[in-house]
Amino acid sequence: MTLSDLSPVDMEVLADMVADRVADRLANRRRLLTRHELSEVINVSVPKLDTMLRDGELPVIRVGRKVLFDPHAVITHMAAKSAPPATCEVCRNEPVVHHVPTDNGVVDTCDECWRFVGPNSGQSDGE
Ligand SMILES: [Zn+2]
Repeated sequence: MTLSDLSPVDMEVLADMVADRVADRLANRRRLLTRHELSEVINVSVPKLDTMLRDGELPVIRVGRKVLFDPHAVITHMAAKSAPPATCEVCRNEPVVHHVPTDNGVVDTCDECWRFVGPNSGQSDGE
């Protein structure tokens, strides 16, 4: 049996198994990781990682003033909430808070922009 005998479904299962093993190995081999190390392991830039940290999106271990990570815990945590965060369709910046029905369908907006797309928006030009 070779890899080419595998169906796409088998390949998916295999990929999952490999991913699990990789996570296990990293967790076992690498003690706790620093921010820079973690950013490479989970393929996220350090600035992005800092943002996630600030938003409390990562399980973190503090040792004195150091911030360290258990890579396995981080990977498990990220996998659990891997749905992409919805962002406002108007400013494309803030998280979605409102689902506003309009003539063009429902528009997801943040807490600021919903006024401008709602049925009572009044189409104001200018500021
Ligand atoms: Zn917005």
